[in-house]
Amino acid sequence: MGQGFDTKSVHVTMKRDNSIPTKVTPIHQTSAFTFKNLDDIENFYAGERDYLYTRVGNPNTDELGQSVANLEEAPAGIATSSGLSAILVGILSIAKAGDHVVASQDLYGGTYELLANELTGFGIEVSFVSYTEDIERHIQSNTVLLYTESITNPLLRVEDLKKVVQIAEKYKLKTMVDNTFATPYLVRPYSLGVNLVAHSATKYIGGHSDITAGVLVGDEDLVAIARQKCVNLGSNLSPFEAWLTVRGLKTLAVRMERHVHNAEQVANTLRNHPAVDKVYYPEFVSERGHGAIVTIDITKSANVETFLQSLSWIKIVATLAGVETTVSYPLGTSHRSLPKEAQEKLGITKGLIRISVGIEDADDIISTLIHALDLAKSEVE
Ligand SMILES: *Cc1c(COP(=O)(O)O)cnc(C)c1O
Repeated sequence: MGQGFDTKSVHVTMKRDNSIPTKVTPIHQTSAFTFKNLDDIENFYAGERDYLYTRVGNPNTDELGQSVANLEEAPAGIATSSGLSAILVGILSIAKAGDHVVASQDLYGGTYELLANELTGFGIEVSFVSYTEDIERHIQSNTVLLYTESITNPLLRVEDLKKVVQIAEKYKLKTMVDNTFATPYLVRPYSLGVNLVAHSATKYIGGHSDITAGVLVGDEDLVAIARQKCVNLGSNLSPFEAWLTVRGLKTLAVRMERHVHNAEQVANTLRNHPAVDKVYYPEFVSERGHGAIVTIDITKSANVETFLQSLSWIKIVATLAGVETTVSYPLGTSHRSLPKEAQEKLGITKGLIRISVGIEDADDIISTLIHALDLAKSEVE
């Protein structure tokens, strides 16, 4: 290598030695990989070496995709730039222009927008239907996919995935499930026969509210198509964010254990509070618990603004699933894009609050919520 100042300043990298036995995967923060010679380039296209260019593949993003696939008991997985891009490339691996998707009507607001406003622009037809009613009635000759969430947002309806898979098998359709709220700690849709499972890894998989990332796992052939879509659409995740997400993933089980334990106590306590009209918390999700989100409706019995202003250390955010307890306001954020009649039909009211129960001491979470509810209640008396 030349010894000019400019040359040296560009080539600051220390001598690399792959035999250094690092305990964790180092961050491969590089946009590309080098080739020894022309044969080496051919080796990539022959599948004999792994990496070419980070948009096409990177050890850190591969590690994340594989790790979540392992937890979901699926053969293949990829990491993507966000939960929404995981959903996008997943759907595009199954549906093309002229095809029809039967989606659940109570989806995450961003997913609703993606399906209603973008996929339709690609020529994919989408029906939003109640998955507790008759799904089969909405299946058409061009239907290719049933799409739903394992635990819905924000009203926490637990999907009957076995039923969805049965219907799909009967009509030879594919199934795709957003497993963000349940995580593989509670539910593993792939092992129930679902073809593709998507995650907003921004939530529990990452777990610390410091990354935006997505993961798609499932059937090998579909994930291979989705991987190519991801390359072509440029929806790859950055190596550093993949690395942080893998770091978060390692504590998924211990975080979920505490999240779920705390959420159960919060749900039980709030059911008996006079400021709360209704508590949404699943009766049963799995042997390990019933989720970490508790949604309450206080429209009739309390002042929403007072409640939100009285939460002290519990912050108002437009997300969920961090280690800190937070609240969100679905009508104003995640579900504001839903048509008004859909909001009303689903119960996205002006007093609906979604609580993402954190891993703090349950007593502290509960006393803070009760304090705020007491204040909000006294205002309407
Ligand atoms: C947040 C979220 C998404 C979207 O994920 P991003 O990482 O924000 O793109 C999709 N589905 C559910 C259930 C979510 O909570």
